[in-house]
Amino acid sequence: MRTRFIAALGLTVCLAVARADDATIDSCQYADNAAAQAAWRPMRGTAAVTVAKIEGRRALRMPCNFAGTTIERASWDRKVQLDLVPCQGVQFKLYCKNAAPVAGFTIYFESDTGWYSTGFHPQSAGWNTITINKASTRTEGKPSGWGRIKTIRISAWRAKNADTEFYIADLAKTGVLGTDSLIAVVRGESAARAGSDEARSVDQFAENVTDNLRALGIGCAIISDLDATAERLKQAKLVILPHNPGMPDNVADELIKFVQDGGKLLGFYSLPSKLRPLLKLEQGRHVKAERPGHFAAIRFADNALPGAPQTVGQRSWNINDTKPASGARVLAEWLDDAGKPTGHAAVLASGNCIWMTHVLLDDDLANKQRMLMAMVGQLVPDLWRQTAEAAVAQIGQIAGYKTYDKAAADIARTGRGDKRVASALASARQLRDTAQALCKQGRFTDVAEKAATANQKLREAFCMAQKPLKGEFRAFWCHSAFGVEGMTWDEAIKNLADNGFTAVFPNMLWGGVAFYQSKVLPVAPDVAEKGDQIAQCVAACKKHGVQIHVWKVNWNTGWRTPKEFIERMRREGRLQASSKGKEEPWLCPSHPENQKLEVASMVEVAREYDVDGIHFDYIRYPNNDHCFCNGCKERFESWRKLPACDRPQNASWKLAPPLQNWPKDVLGDGPLRLQWLDWRRGNITAVVKATNEQARAIKPNIKISAAVFRNWPSDRDSVGQDWKLWCDKGWLDLVCPMDYTESNTTFENFVTNQKTWAGKVPLRPGIGASASRSHLTPEHVIQQINITRRHNTKGFIIFNYGVPQAKELVPMLGLGITAKR
Ligand SMILES: [Zn+2]
Repeated sequence: MRTRFIAALGLTVCLAVARADDATIDSCQYADNAAAQAAWRPMRGTAAVTVAKIEGRRALRMPCNFAGTTIERASWDRKVQLDLVPCQGVQFKLYCKNAAPVAGFTIYFESDTGWYSTGFHPQSAGWNTITINKASTRTEGKPSGWGRIKTIRISAWRAKNADTEFYIADLAKTGVLGTDSLIAVVRGESAARAGSDEARSVDQFAENVTDNLRALGIGCAIISDLDATAERLKQAKLVILPHNPGMPDNVADELIKFVQDGGKLLGFYSLPSKLRPLLKLEQGRHVKAERPGHFAAIRFADNALPGAPQTVGQRSWNINDTKPASGARVLAEWLDDAGKPTGHAAVLASGNCIWMTHVLLDDDLANKQRMLMAMVGQLVPDLWRQTAEAAVAQIGQIAGYKTYDKAAADIARTGRGDKRVASALASARQLRDTAQALCKQGRFTDVAEKAATANQKLREAFCMAQKPLKGEFRAFWCHSAFGVEGMTWDEAIKNLADNGFTAVFPNMLWGGVAFYQSKVLPVAPDVAEKGDQIAQCVAACKKHGVQIHVWKVNWNTGWRTPKEFIERMRREGRLQASSKGKEEPWLCPSHPENQKLEVASMVEVAREYDVDGIHFDYIRYPNNDHCFCNGCKERFESWRKLPACDRPQNASWKLAPPLQNWPKDVLGDGPLRLQWLDWRRGNITAVVKATNEQARAIKPNIKISAAVFRNWPSDRDSVGQDWKLWCDKGWLDLVCPMDYTESNTTFENFVTNQKTWAGKVPLRPGIGASASRSHLTPEHVIQQINITRRHNTKGFIIFNYGVPQAKELVPMLGLGITAKR
């Protein structure tokens, strides 16, 4: 889960003192092409950069020569000697008039024996400011901190066989500690370096904190713990530890020096033992939630933390039961979902720190941000004025609007004649006036609530002003076989129906486990206790008039799969292996018994339950490095010996030589590569085809659908997912590409390309409301629904139906865009 406040993207109020001159990395103002080309080296097959002037700005032109080439990406490297330690990340200007041929952009930073990387997208067709937050980067290999970056790489990934170009300018550091920011967020990268399982959650919770700070208009530098020294932290007034498990002792020593010199700490979850005496906190035991909802909210004692909401929702699955020593106190405690105190501290404070006993999750976002603002304001009072002013300035920055006046005028026009809209707009204006007045009076701690409520009213007005479209297919994927936590299937489906949704896609089976009474797959033990989940969901759907399309995660055996099943698959040689021989708990798609199992389980659902549809997911290989098990080698060889009429005809490999070097011949530009790719995707396609034939024989009107990757031309090779073929053959009745992105331009490019690949098959673009790389507010979801309408898809599907979506997103959509009227 990842927190983003889209409306605030790129609009964060600049609180900073003017940027230091040495912030510039590359202004991209080269004297001539030769100078530019000497600095930015193209990767093999990529065309060279040139200098250009576009819309009044001198810039670097980066051509993407995709037409008639086979390059996977256009990519350029710039050698640098860069210390990015004391800053938040980098910023640059980007111009890309036609991004349709680009599946996505990536920026990389090379450090020692590894890389940091992250994607970015233009938000509009003109000049965009792109901010790269170090906390949103992923690591590849073993990068050794941000102090010695030696290469910056920019890549544009191919989406189609057409040329385009983009321009960049003004590449510079941002959020420089001491000039742009007073806060340092220390990211626990030593966990990744030690190969810890925690590496991903370290990245995730660091990003949650920095995204929330950014949404609040508070600058921060992000510092790897590999680089964190008291000397480097000197410019900071506050250090935040978002999730730093197993903090190395030397890092703790540096933090101790920082605090002894007057610095403050805001920490989450695991409390390093060396810091405890200084912070006057004692580590208690690790406490697991006794049941879902055991830890449901944080309640502050009266006036314990000025500016914080009284109660903040957070459904935590465990906590560290930290206790106050003499000199510290408890500010807030955990409540359960019935509002009863649990007796465990949620937030504690001493003279030099505030500590929360779990990581910062992204539920109840508006209150979460107010709490974070109050924590920061308590520790660094200088920041109160800035954050309060930023909060007032941000009223109206919803749904891509840059000012309150423009937002209010547009909403009033769209919702003309709707009394609800007029009334919500009036409340928003009044609250905004109050927030401005409080800010002028210097009552900064009171501003946050008014500003947040003003924005909430404006959001409601925006949602109410939307109009439903008749006959639209409106669906949710539901990742849990048990539906929405804390709701029965009946309640969860009624909520969808009441708000105008027409279909649900619940995940009821995996490659190796079923959440219903299956005769072909192992049944999850939970079914004995909680009952047959398909039966319950079908009953609710029939009652409320919602379609049910049962979702299977194919091949991937699943999280509740019995160990014996995996063991048996291993013994029988039915699991996948990488080219280096590493085994994966995914069923090998070329194994005939696995194909039969995949088909039989989906057909079983179609036969045994009154469902509207069955839905493929993970109907592909895990990545481009699978499957290389021994069985794959044998089966590939025997397939090659089949008479040509039994194989797809493809002149490019008809005369392929015999297999001599396994797996080298089928990798990279090996002689059997194209033949291998054809055979490989054929294994996946065989399951789609057979499922289609057998399910339709039982239920001629059943709808067969698939969740697919976004970029068919490259995905058919990389993961063997040939979904355009499945559409062309009529094996799918609906196709749902997972178009999870926070960029509306990128979303629109995806939809445009996918419409042509889907052909006559209805396209239901997947909107990533709460996907791993995209988190959308209700207004942002509405913007993407409006894009699907512009492209006349007549429907969409949203990921994922969980607690925040059931409680907030669905009712907000039900106010207008999906309303039952
Ligand atoms: Zn295999």
